[in-house]
Amino acid sequence: MTSPLPPLDILLAAPRGFCAGVDRAIQIVELALERYGPPVYVRHEIVHNRFVVEGLKAKGAVFVEELDEIPDTGRPVIFSAHGVPKSVPANAETRGMFFLDATCPLVSKVHKEAVLHHRRGREIVLIGHAGHPEVIGTMGQLPEGTVALVETVDDATRFAPRDPANLAFITQTTLSLDDTAAIVAVLKARFPAIVGPHKEDICYATTNRQEAVKRIAPAVDAMVVVGAPNSSNSQRLREVAEREGCTRAVLIQRAAEIDWAALGSLRRVGITAGASAPEVLVEEVIAAFAERYTVSVEVVRNAEETIAFNLPRELRLPPAAA
Ligand code: SF4
Repeated sequence: MTSPLPPLDILLAAPRGFCAGVDRAIQIVELALERYGPPVYVRHEIVHNRFVVEGLKAKGAVFVEELDEIPDTGRPVIFSAHGVPKSVPANAETRGMFFLDATCPLVSKVHKEAVLHHRRGREIVLIGHAGHPEVIGTMGQLPEGTVALVETVDDATRFAPRDPANLAFITQTTLSLDDTAAIVAVLKARFPAIVGPHKEDICYATTNRQEAVKRIAPAVDAMVVVGAPNSSNSQRLREVAEREGCTRAVLIQRAAEIDWAALGSLRRVGITAGASAPEVLVEEVIAAFAERYTVSVEVVRNAEETIAFNLPRELRLPPAAA
Protein backbone atom coordinates (compact mmCIF):
# COMPACT_ATOMS: atom_id res chain seq x y z
CA MET A 1 0.00 0.00 0.00
CA THR A 2 1.41 3.39 -0.96
CA SER A 3 1.46 6.08 1.72
CA PRO A 4 -0.85 9.06 1.16
CA LEU A 5 0.65 12.21 -0.32
CA PRO A 6 1.35 14.98 2.21
CA PRO A 7 -1.19 17.83 2.26
CA LEU A 8 -0.39 21.17 0.58
CA ASP A 9 -2.43 24.37 0.51
CA ILE A 10 -1.96 26.37 -2.68
CA LEU A 11 -2.83 30.06 -2.47
CA LEU A 12 -3.46 31.09 -6.06
CA ALA A 13 -3.09 34.80 -6.71
CA ALA A 14 -5.79 36.63 -8.62
CA PRO A 15 -5.41 38.51 -10.82
CA ARG A 16 -2.44 36.70 -12.38
CA GLY A 17 -1.19 36.02 -15.87
CA PHE A 18 -2.34 37.70 -19.07
CA CYS A 19 -3.21 41.40 -18.97
CA ALA A 20 -5.27 43.24 -21.55
CA GLY A 21 -2.18 44.50 -23.40
CA VAL A 22 -0.69 41.03 -23.79
CA ASP A 23 -4.02 39.55 -24.78
CA ARG A 24 -4.42 42.22 -27.47
CA ALA A 25 -0.88 41.76 -28.79
CA ILE A 26 -1.30 37.99 -29.17
CA GLN A 27 -4.70 38.48 -30.83
CA ILE A 28 -3.11 40.89 -33.31
CA VAL A 29 -0.59 38.26 -34.41
CA GLU A 30 -3.20 35.50 -34.57
CA LEU A 31 -5.69 37.63 -36.52
CA ALA A 32 -2.97 38.86 -38.89
CA LEU A 33 -1.99 35.24 -39.58
CA GLU A 34 -5.64 34.35 -40.25
CA ARG A 35 -6.29 37.36 -42.42
CA TYR A 36 -3.07 37.69 -44.40
CA GLY A 37 -1.72 34.14 -44.13
CA PRO A 38 1.84 33.21 -43.09
CA PRO A 39 4.47 34.42 -42.85
CA VAL A 40 3.73 37.40 -40.66
CA TYR A 41 6.83 39.08 -39.24
CA VAL A 42 6.99 40.21 -35.62
CA ARG A 43 9.65 42.63 -34.45
CA HIS A 44 10.94 41.38 -31.06
CA GLU A 45 9.14 38.75 -28.94
CA ILE A 46 5.51 39.88 -29.17
CA VAL A 47 5.33 39.37 -25.38
CA HIS A 48 8.09 38.04 -23.15
CA ASN A 49 7.08 34.40 -23.03
CA ARG A 50 8.81 31.59 -24.90
CA PHE A 51 5.73 29.32 -24.84
CA VAL A 52 3.62 32.03 -26.50
CA VAL A 53 6.33 32.83 -29.03
CA GLU A 54 6.83 29.15 -29.96
CA GLY A 55 3.06 28.72 -30.36
CA LEU A 56 2.88 31.67 -32.76
CA LYS A 57 5.97 30.48 -34.65
CA ALA A 58 4.22 27.15 -35.23
CA LYS A 59 1.33 29.08 -36.82
CA GLY A 60 3.63 30.99 -39.19
CA ALA A 61 4.90 34.03 -37.28
CA VAL A 62 8.56 34.88 -37.90
CA PHE A 63 10.31 36.74 -35.10
CA VAL A 64 13.07 39.24 -35.88
CA GLU A 65 14.90 41.81 -33.80
CA GLU A 66 15.20 44.50 -36.48
CA LEU A 67 13.31 45.44 -39.65
CA ASP A 68 16.39 44.94 -41.85
CA GLU A 69 16.05 41.18 -41.25
CA ILE A 70 12.74 41.24 -43.16
CA PRO A 71 12.85 40.77 -46.95
CA ASP A 72 10.90 43.20 -49.20
CA THR A 73 8.08 40.79 -49.93
CA GLY A 74 5.17 42.93 -48.75
CA ARG A 75 4.40 40.66 -45.80
CA PRO A 76 2.88 42.32 -42.69
CA VAL A 77 5.11 43.22 -39.78
CA ILE A 78 3.89 43.63 -36.20
CA PHE A 79 5.57 45.69 -33.49
CA SER A 80 5.60 44.10 -30.03
CA ALA A 81 3.52 45.09 -26.98
CA HIS A 82 6.53 46.84 -25.42
CA GLY A 83 6.47 49.68 -27.95
CA VAL A 84 9.11 50.87 -30.39
CA PRO A 85 11.20 54.01 -30.93
CA LYS A 86 9.69 56.44 -33.47
CA SER A 87 12.45 55.50 -35.92
CA VAL A 88 10.95 52.01 -36.35
CA PRO A 89 7.57 52.94 -37.91
CA ALA A 90 9.36 55.73 -39.80
CA ASN A 91 11.76 53.18 -41.27
CA ALA A 92 8.87 50.81 -42.07
CA GLU A 93 7.06 53.61 -43.91
CA THR A 94 10.17 54.50 -45.89
CA ARG A 95 10.38 50.86 -46.99
CA GLY A 96 6.66 50.77 -47.85
CA MET A 97 6.02 48.02 -45.29
CA PHE A 98 2.55 47.16 -44.08
CA PHE A 99 2.78 47.24 -40.30
CA LEU A 100 0.47 46.69 -37.35
CA ASP A 101 1.35 48.20 -34.00
CA ALA A 102 0.73 45.91 -31.00
CA THR A 103 2.17 48.44 -28.53
CA CYS A 104 0.03 48.27 -25.38
CA PRO A 105 -2.18 51.39 -25.20
CA LEU A 106 -0.87 51.97 -21.66
CA VAL A 107 2.69 52.15 -23.04
CA SER A 108 1.46 54.49 -25.80
CA LYS A 109 -0.01 56.69 -23.06
CA VAL A 110 3.48 57.09 -21.56
CA HIS A 111 4.88 57.88 -25.04
CA LYS A 112 2.29 60.67 -25.40
CA GLU A 113 3.19 62.09 -21.97
CA ALA A 114 6.86 62.19 -22.98
CA VAL A 115 6.07 64.04 -26.20
CA LEU A 116 3.82 66.52 -24.37
CA HIS A 117 6.42 67.31 -21.69
CA HIS A 118 9.01 67.80 -24.41
CA ARG A 119 6.73 70.17 -26.30
CA ARG A 120 6.30 72.16 -23.11
CA GLY A 121 10.05 72.48 -22.84
CA ARG A 122 10.47 70.18 -19.84
CA GLU A 123 13.50 67.99 -19.26
CA ILE A 124 12.26 64.43 -18.80
CA VAL A 125 13.33 61.80 -16.29
CA LEU A 126 12.30 58.25 -17.20
CA ILE A 127 12.28 55.83 -14.26
CA GLY A 128 12.97 52.39 -15.70
CA HIS A 129 15.44 49.61 -16.45
CA ALA A 130 18.22 50.26 -18.98
CA GLY A 131 18.02 48.01 -22.02
CA HIS A 132 14.39 46.91 -21.55
CA PRO A 133 12.57 47.22 -24.91
CA GLU A 134 9.88 49.42 -23.35
CA VAL A 135 12.52 51.86 -22.10
CA ILE A 136 14.23 51.87 -25.50
CA GLY A 137 10.84 52.55 -27.14
CA THR A 138 9.89 55.33 -24.74
CA MET A 139 13.28 57.07 -24.95
CA GLY A 140 13.06 56.72 -28.72
CA GLN A 141 9.95 58.91 -28.88
CA LEU A 142 12.19 61.95 -28.56
CA PRO A 143 15.58 63.03 -29.89
CA GLU A 144 18.60 61.38 -28.31
CA GLY A 145 19.73 63.04 -25.07
CA THR A 146 16.27 64.44 -24.30
CA VAL A 147 15.25 61.80 -21.77
CA ALA A 148 17.41 60.96 -18.73
CA LEU A 149 17.11 57.41 -17.41
CA VAL A 150 16.96 56.92 -13.64
CA GLU A 151 17.04 53.32 -12.41
CA THR A 152 17.62 53.59 -8.66
CA VAL A 153 17.30 55.86 -5.64
CA ASP A 154 21.07 56.51 -5.98
CA ASP A 155 20.58 57.67 -9.57
CA ALA A 156 17.78 59.98 -8.39
CA THR A 157 20.03 61.39 -5.68
CA ARG A 158 22.81 62.11 -8.16
CA PHE A 159 20.68 63.34 -11.07
CA ALA A 160 21.74 66.82 -12.17
CA PRO A 161 19.13 68.51 -14.36
CA ARG A 162 19.77 71.46 -16.64
CA ASP A 163 16.91 73.42 -15.02
CA PRO A 164 15.50 72.03 -11.73
CA ALA A 165 12.40 74.20 -12.11
CA ASN A 166 11.45 72.68 -15.44
CA LEU A 167 11.35 68.92 -14.99
CA ALA A 168 8.93 66.06 -15.53
CA PHE A 169 9.06 62.36 -14.79
CA ILE A 170 7.48 59.34 -16.45
CA THR A 171 7.96 55.65 -15.66
CA GLN A 172 8.14 52.22 -17.23
CA THR A 173 4.76 50.47 -16.84
CA THR A 174 6.02 47.28 -15.18
CA LEU A 175 8.14 48.51 -12.27
CA SER A 176 8.01 47.68 -8.59
CA LEU A 177 5.44 49.98 -6.99
CA ASP A 178 7.53 50.39 -3.84
CA ASP A 179 10.89 51.00 -5.56
CA THR A 180 9.31 53.54 -7.86
CA ALA A 181 7.61 55.34 -4.99
CA ALA A 182 11.00 55.64 -3.25
CA ILE A 183 12.65 57.06 -6.40
CA VAL A 184 9.77 59.50 -6.97
CA ALA A 185 10.00 60.62 -3.33
CA VAL A 186 13.69 61.51 -3.81
CA LEU A 187 12.98 63.39 -7.03
CA LYS A 188 10.10 65.33 -5.45
CA ALA A 189 12.17 66.19 -2.38
CA ARG A 190 15.02 67.46 -4.53
CA PHE A 191 12.90 69.12 -7.23
CA PRO A 192 9.56 70.18 -5.73
CA ALA A 193 8.36 71.59 -9.06
CA ILE A 194 8.79 68.27 -10.92
CA VAL A 195 5.66 67.30 -12.86
CA GLY A 196 4.43 63.69 -12.71
CA PRO A 197 1.79 61.70 -14.59
CA HIS A 198 -1.89 62.56 -13.92
CA LYS A 199 -2.52 58.87 -13.49
CA GLU A 200 0.23 56.39 -12.53
CA ASP A 201 2.35 55.12 -15.41
CA ILE A 202 2.77 51.76 -13.66
CA CYS A 203 -0.16 49.92 -15.19
CA TYR A 204 -3.20 48.41 -13.51
CA ALA A 205 -2.01 44.86 -14.30
CA THR A 206 1.41 45.35 -12.69
CA THR A 207 -0.23 46.96 -9.67
CA ASN A 208 -2.88 44.28 -9.17
CA ARG A 209 -0.43 41.38 -9.55
CA GLN A 210 2.03 42.90 -7.06
CA GLU A 211 -0.74 43.65 -4.55
CA ALA A 212 -2.01 40.06 -4.78
CA VAL A 213 1.51 38.74 -4.10
CA LYS A 214 1.81 41.07 -1.10
CA ARG A 215 -1.27 39.45 0.42
CA ILE A 216 -0.08 35.91 -0.13
CA ALA A 217 3.70 36.00 0.36
CA PRO A 218 3.78 36.48 4.15
CA ALA A 219 1.52 33.46 4.64
CA VAL A 220 3.33 30.83 2.55
CA ASP A 221 6.51 28.73 2.76
CA ALA A 222 7.35 29.40 -0.89
CA MET A 223 6.12 31.53 -3.76
CA VAL A 224 6.24 30.31 -7.35
CA VAL A 225 6.04 32.96 -10.06
CA VAL A 226 5.38 31.62 -13.55
CA GLY A 227 7.04 33.88 -16.09
CA ALA A 228 10.09 34.53 -18.21
CA PRO A 229 13.43 35.80 -16.89
CA ASN A 230 13.29 38.72 -19.37
CA SER A 231 9.76 39.67 -18.26
CA SER A 232 10.08 42.78 -16.10
CA ASN A 233 6.75 42.41 -14.34
CA SER A 234 7.44 38.72 -13.55
CA GLN A 235 10.82 39.56 -12.04
CA ARG A 236 9.16 42.23 -9.92
CA LEU A 237 6.61 39.70 -8.61
CA ARG A 238 9.41 37.45 -7.37
CA GLU A 239 11.13 40.42 -5.69
CA VAL A 240 7.89 41.59 -4.07
CA ALA A 241 7.35 38.11 -2.59
CA GLU A 242 10.87 38.12 -1.18
CA ARG A 243 10.45 41.54 0.35
CA GLU A 244 7.23 40.46 1.98
CA GLY A 245 9.22 37.85 3.87
CA CYS A 246 8.93 34.82 1.61
CA THR A 247 12.52 33.58 1.43
CA ARG A 248 11.79 30.86 -1.09
CA ALA A 249 10.46 32.90 -4.04
CA VAL A 250 11.26 31.45 -7.46
CA LEU A 251 10.63 32.49 -11.04
CA ILE A 252 10.10 29.57 -13.43
CA GLN A 253 9.02 29.32 -17.04
CA ARG A 254 7.62 25.79 -16.92
CA ALA A 255 6.83 23.15 -14.27
CA ALA A 256 9.90 21.18 -15.38
CA GLU A 257 12.10 23.99 -13.99
CA ILE A 258 10.87 23.56 -10.42
CA ASP A 259 13.80 22.64 -8.18
CA TRP A 260 11.93 20.44 -5.70
CA ALA A 261 14.96 19.95 -3.47
CA ALA A 262 15.49 23.72 -3.15
CA LEU A 263 11.82 24.27 -2.30
CA GLY A 264 12.20 21.83 0.60
CA SER A 265 9.27 20.70 2.68
CA LEU A 266 6.13 22.70 2.11
CA ARG A 267 2.78 23.08 3.79
CA ARG A 268 1.56 26.20 1.98
CA VAL A 269 2.70 27.57 -1.36
CA GLY A 270 1.68 30.67 -3.29
CA ILE A 271 1.43 30.66 -7.07
CA THR A 272 1.13 33.61 -9.43
CA ALA A 273 2.05 34.42 -13.02
CA GLY A 274 3.48 37.45 -14.79
CA ALA A 275 1.37 39.39 -17.27
CA SER A 276 2.82 37.54 -20.26
CA ALA A 277 2.44 33.99 -18.88
CA PRO A 278 -0.52 31.93 -20.15
CA GLU A 279 -2.86 30.21 -17.69
CA VAL A 280 -2.05 26.79 -19.16
CA LEU A 281 1.43 27.08 -17.63
CA VAL A 282 -0.07 27.85 -14.20
CA GLU A 283 -2.24 24.75 -14.56
CA GLU A 284 0.86 22.74 -15.45
CA VAL A 285 2.58 23.93 -12.25
CA ILE A 286 -0.45 23.09 -10.10
CA ALA A 287 -0.54 19.62 -11.71
CA ALA A 288 3.15 19.14 -10.86
CA PHE A 289 2.42 19.94 -7.20
CA ALA A 290 -0.58 17.58 -7.31
CA GLU A 291 1.74 14.71 -8.30
CA ARG A 292 3.67 15.17 -5.04
CA TYR A 293 1.05 16.47 -2.61
CA THR A 294 -2.64 16.24 -1.88
CA VAL A 295 -3.37 19.82 -2.89
CA SER A 296 -6.20 22.14 -2.00
CA VAL A 297 -6.36 25.35 -3.99
CA GLU A 298 -7.66 28.63 -2.60
CA VAL A 299 -7.92 31.67 -4.87
CA VAL A 300 -6.81 34.90 -3.18
CA ARG A 301 -8.29 37.75 -5.18
CA ASN A 302 -7.47 41.40 -4.63
CA ALA A 303 -9.08 42.95 -7.72
CA GLU A 304 -11.43 42.26 -10.63
CA GLU A 305 -10.05 43.10 -14.06
CA THR A 306 -12.46 43.95 -16.84
CA ILE A 307 -10.20 46.05 -19.07
CA ALA A 308 -10.01 45.14 -22.76
CA PHE A 309 -8.33 47.16 -25.52
CA ASN A 310 -9.52 47.70 -29.10
CA LEU A 311 -7.66 45.99 -31.91
CA PRO A 312 -5.98 48.10 -34.61
CA ARG A 313 -8.46 49.42 -37.18
CA GLU A 314 -7.14 47.19 -39.98
CA LEU A 315 -8.10 44.08 -38.01
CA ARG A 316 -11.49 45.40 -36.91
CA LEU A 317 -12.71 46.03 -40.46
CA PRO A 318 -14.13 43.16 -42.50
CA PRO A 319 -11.35 41.63 -44.69
CA ALA A 320 -12.57 43.16 -47.98
CA ALA A 321 -12.44 46.68 -46.55
CA ALA A 322 -9.15 46.29 -44.70
S1 SF4 B 1 1.77 44.78 -18.31
FE1 SF4 B 1 0.56 46.65 -18.37
S2 SF4 B 1 1.59 47.99 -19.85
FE2 SF4 B 1 2.41 45.90 -20.15
S3 SF4 B 1 1.10 45.05 -21.74
FE3 SF4 B 1 0.15 44.51 -19.80
S4 SF4 B 1 -1.37 46.16 -19.41
FE4 SF4 B 1 0.05 46.88 -20.99
